Amino acid sequence: MARRHACIVGAGIVGCATAYALARDGWRVTLIDALPAVGQGASLANGAQLSYSYVEPLATPAALRAMPGWLIAKGSPLRWRPRAEWAHWRWLLDFVRACRPVQVRRTTEALLTLSSLSRETLHTWLAEMPGVAQALHHARPGKLVLYRDAAARTALQRQLVWQQALGCRQRLVDRDDCVALEPALAASMAEQIAFGVWTDSEEVIDGARLSQALARASGAELRLGEQVVGFDRHGSRVGGLRMASGECIAADHVVLAAGAAAPALVRPLGLRLPIEPIKGYSLTLPVADAAAAPQVSVTDAARKIVFARLGPTLRVAGFAELVGSDLRLAFARLQMLGDAVQQAFPGACDLDGAQPWAGLRPATPDGQPRIGPTPCPNLWLNVGHGALGLTLAAGSAARLASLMRPACAPIGR
Ligand SMILES: Cc1cc2nc3c(=O)[nH]c(=O)nc-3n(C[C@H](O)[C@H](O)[C@H](O)COP(=O)(O)OP(=O)(O)OC[C@H]3O[C@@H](n4cnc5c(N)ncnc54)[C@H](O)[C@@H]3O)c2cc1C
Repeated sequence: MARRHACIVGAGIVGCATAYALARDGWRVTLIDALPAVGQGASLANGAQLSYSYVEPLATPAALRAMPGWLIAKGSPLRWRPRAEWAHWRWLLDFVRACRPVQVRRTTEALLTLSSLSRETLHTWLAEMPGVAQALHHARPGKLVLYRDAAARTALQRQLVWQQALGCRQRLVDRDDCVALEPALAASMAEQIAFGVWTDSEEVIDGARLSQALARASGAELRLGEQVVGFDRHGSRVGGLRMASGECIAADHVVLAAGAAAPALVRPLGLRLPIEPIKGYSLTLPVADAAAAPQVSVTDAARKIVFARLGPTLRVAGFAELVGSDLRLAFARLQMLGDAVQQAFPGACDLDGAQPWAGLRPATPDGQPRIGPTPCPNLWLNVGHGALGLTLAAGSAARLASLMRPACAPIGR
């Protein structure tokens, strides 16, 4: 009996996780990407954090209050270049609306449920792929978020108590505990630390390698370097995918996992996806002195910069720029990341060997990904994972696969 065929548009971490989840359910899967290899978009060199307990959205009352200051401050993590596009302004308006405390709580709860499913799902999948965890630099070093402002402590304490009730195990730690947890901090930042939040269950993984491992293990047919330009309609259904080459790929079902490019693809179908590309940067640096480099994941909360040890390298990532789909590397940003490494962990890395990168977070205004059906009965979404796509990919894929299960019955049954 023929298996149902699903085409996935986008072979980033979300598309590859979806391929694996659908293949496990018995689908025949084709994974399509415009780029020549798997995991080369936003998933290539992101912060590498499986940040299961830090899912609070970008849109919060505190962020809204801080934004005017961030927009004018020199060296600010935020940059905004306004665009004359209705979708851009509508996204901003929705973002402001999403900053209401009740919405933030709702979103955080929903994301904690999804992140918990993600952790469980990824652990199951990694157990099904014996021997790969080390090659993916998968580890559980824990995460230490450092605060320089003691005044932030009370609000954080409240947040931790609330998150504890939702299953997160996190604790506030003093400066000395921060240095005990990560001795590499002693040489540099210790004096500037007011306190920290420690979460011992947080993990790291190489997103590009994980994408590749999932794509391989799914057994999906890979069509790389091939761009989807539109959909063939058969009534209310999607009959297939129109490719830049002129070919049409037929599919029983289509999953859109095209990251920041998703809105433009579905607009001709009359679907509006509120996704704005938020650009971030990273450097991947060879570790030169292992004792001076952090073992645990460290976040500098004031600068919004994250440091993660990935095997023999240190990944440092940060910044949020609303500049459209401009992927050019700004020297000043890379310099700031290099300086941040030198200041936090002097001598730890070979700065001359740094690999620079920029990627586009596919961000929804409220921080929640869009996972599930569309008005076209055989077109499904798995998009809009913003700053948490690596963390949420496995859970999102598992959730979508369970929604698609009724459609998976083999043809001819
Ligand atoms: C600086 C930075 C740091 C980050 N740090 C973290 C972190 O520490 N932890 C975390 O959880 N998340 C992090 N993220 C977020 C995470 O990287 C993203 O949410 C995630 O990569 C999104 O995955 P995706 O598969 O949806 O998109 P992508 O990886 O961008 O994949 C989408 C794919 O679709 C393809 N595509 C698009 N249009 C078409 C088309 N028409 N035809 C064919 N193919 C198409 C693209 O080529 C691309 O490969 C970070 C992001 C950035 C930028």
